[in-house]
Amino acid sequence: MTKILIIYTGGTIGMVNDPLTGALIPFDFKQIQQNVPELARLNYDLDVHSFDPILDSSNMDPEIWAELAGIITDTYATYDGFVILHGSDTMAYTASALSFMLKNLSKPVVLTGSQLPIGEIRTDAKENLITALEIAATKVNELAMIPEVCIYFDYQLFRGNRSIKYNSEKFEAFQSPNYPILAEAGVTLSFYSNYIHQHPVEPLVLQSEFNTNIGVLKMYPGITIKTVQAITRSSVDAIVMETFGSGNTTTAQWFVDSLQEALDAGKLIVDISQCQGGSVELGKYETSKKLQHMGIISGFDMTFEATITKLMYLMGQGLPYKEVAALMEVSLRGELSA
Ligand code: ASP
Repeated sequence: MTKILIIYTGGTIGMVNDPLTGALIPFDFKQIQQNVPELARLNYDLDVHSFDPILDSSNMDPEIWAELAGIITDTYATYDGFVILHGSDTMAYTASALSFMLKNLSKPVVLTGSQLPIGEIRTDAKENLITALEIAATKVNELAMIPEVCIYFDYQLFRGNRSIKYNSEKFEAFQSPNYPILAEAGVTLSFYSNYIHQHPVEPLVLQSEFNTNIGVLKMYPGITIKTVQAITRSSVDAIVMETFGSGNTTTAQWFVDSLQEALDAGKLIVDISQCQGGSVELGKYETSKKLQHMGIISGFDMTFEATITKLMYLMGQGLPYKEVAALMEVSLRGELSA
């Protein structure tokens, strides 16, 4: 029988109203099971690993990502697939981080959650959970259909490191602006195998060291030298710079000098766009030519979530500056199209 491990980290899916404050707080897995009697009718052998404490995903951090990746690695041989129940707020960060941490993954790791708690009448939790389990159990020729870290939400399956949470109210909470969906749930489950990552089965490699010493510089018209230098002159090891359009910034000399000073101090600077769709193209406009010549790294069409977790992962391996810079511009787990 297909064996699946459900890892319950928390999130709205399992939350209940705190009678004292009225706020939603995470609750234990038992009530999820009680609310989804269908779980017992699925023809899978299900085990559950519940986090303690259970979390709202805003409290996720790299230490917990390491714990999650450790559980998957330790039980990898036992299970055919993994379903992680997780709050939607930071799900795209966790999915991106896990995709980098779990090199050579050849089994499904499907993250899901919901916008309404499982105990609510109109909940989206049941469908998300049941279909995520079905996806994790699907095989072709004895091999996993989806050997990837992915997110299943509202009838669509996304590559984890391509997804963003774009809506906090709609059931359709996620999008993958720069990569097609991997599968869709209608009357049947349709898998789009051309877009699913395929690689030879090799031993899983876990890398859970992260360097989180990263700053973020979001450009806006009117940004001051003081604000820019609060980041460029800080003690961070790398900067994710969120730029305009296809990677453009102001060409003001004070700005270029501030970036140059940061580069001279050994900081990596990665340029990603504030646009969710499309790619950075350094040199396309005059306003990014300078950046290209200075050695600013192109993040191409990566999400912010993928960019920051990839930087944490690569810098966590203690690789030399040049190697991190080169690897940021190539696809390691299908996170960018360059
Ligand atoms: N605040 C919740 C969380 O991320 C939201 C959700 O689960 O959708 O844990």
